[in-house]
Amino acid sequence: MFNNIPRIAIIGRANVGKSSLFNRMIEEQKSLVSDVPGTTRDRFEADCIWRGQVMRLIDTGGLDANRLNEIEKNIIEQAEIAIKEADAIFFVVDLTAPPSPDDLSIAQKMKSLKKPVIVIGNKADTHTIRAIVHDAQWKAWPLKLPLPVSAKQGVGVGDVLEEATAILEKAGIPPAPIATVSPMRVAVFGEPNVGKSTLLNALLGEKRFITANMPHTTRQPNDVTVEHEGHIYQFIDTAGVRKHASMMRSGTHLEKIGVDKTLDVVKRSDVALFVIDITRGITAQDRHLAGVLAEEGISTIIVANKWDLIPKKTPTSINDQEKIIRGFLPQLKHAPVLFTSALTGQRAKDVYKLVNLVFATRFTQLSDEEAKSFISRAIARHKPSRGKGVKHPRIIKFFQSRINPPTFTLFVNLSRKDSLADSYLRFLENLLRENYDFTGTPIRIRVETGRKSHTTY
Ligand code: GDP
Repeated sequence: MFNNIPRIAIIGRANVGKSSLFNRMIEEQKSLVSDVPGTTRDRFEADCIWRGQVMRLIDTGGLDANRLNEIEKNIIEQAEIAIKEADAIFFVVDLTAPPSPDDLSIAQKMKSLKKPVIVIGNKADTHTIRAIVHDAQWKAWPLKLPLPVSAKQGVGVGDVLEEATAILEKAGIPPAPIATVSPMRVAVFGEPNVGKSTLLNALLGEKRFITANMPHTTRQPNDVTVEHEGHIYQFIDTAGVRKHASMMRSGTHLEKIGVDKTLDVVKRSDVALFVIDITRGITAQDRHLAGVLAEEGISTIIVANKWDLIPKKTPTSINDQEKIIRGFLPQLKHAPVLFTSALTGQRAKDVYKLVNLVFATRFTQLSDEEAKSFISRAIARHKPSRGKGVKHPRIIKFFQSRINPPTFTLFVNLSRKDSLADSYLRFLENLLRENYDFTGTPIRIRVETGRKSHTTY
């Protein structure tokens, strides 16, 4: 279950930038590498995450044929082992020079391997270098033409990972969804007696508990880790979990979750199940917690529990109730609402499906090209509007700077005195949500101001 991650060996001559590329591919997702368990922090081997899926990269030494001392022979042997064990190959060449005889002989060898190979043309720092692949010097190249990349600038890396995902899928060894490799950390919040423990019982009932230490998890004594349909869930200690865990052990009582503890739990979570009792109102504490969850970038599902107690339900009851809940919790407008009866089990198991969905949207990722085309379309619909100040804002650059949770950076040509209208940011957020799946997940848009005048949109 934990070992289905496809392996990709990064090979090529010395000094073509294999290690920079390797580092860039794992660095890009730094936010993740540190939080995602299952990551091997080995010097030569690391997991890279693209659009929520994991591939393992293996860095190798240079494959130069002509300088064969003992150490170099050893490096070549190591690289050959890596190639043999790999499911696919990233073959890196230096685009600033014509393909060398070594490149050509490696290319021939790769051709005979019958493994998917992506040729990466590194050091493509400028437009001119990027265009070189169409020159005569690459005419005789026996493989597909190199994909231009600049490991230094991070340009083109997403395209390579996108291509890698496609070829691995085609080869029947797709990248592994993160949640099959490392647990999704799920916290259950809500006022006392809303049904948190009952819900957990319904969810965990016949589950197999994973008690063995999983690598890289920050398991705490009261966390409960389970597997459900190939995905791994770590239910994080909140009052409800603690109650569940202790009921299982010693039958001791509920411990009320304090404010500090709440924040601590929020910070250890990817997904929050925000449980409310549909027969009671939403409290001030609930509204406060909703704000914290949004602020901290936690994906959230609102679980409206005790649905069985609503008398005389009609086909519009769910809609009516949802409207009321949304009215009280505007901070969680992105969160799906699930109406459950933890007691009877009605829709309780749907929690798993929704957790999978809202966890996946933490990794929704727009490539630089997609972000560019998105912002052009957005501007065509609505020109950016002014907040404070007199200057009319122009957008210089827009790209996704992070995932987990998704974060966008927007450069505008304003000085500190001026600002972009908040309503424009809300417009962008809504449009992002219309065009891409961010269900349940907060989106951040950071505005950077500067005086650069080369408008690109
Ligand atoms: P917690 O404090 O949030 O963990 O709440 P509990 O799970 O201990 O539940 C509090 C009370 O509500 C218990 O008496 C449960 O049996 C009851 N309860 C929980 N879920 C439901 C539900 O869906 N429907 C009904 N009718 N009662 C429920």
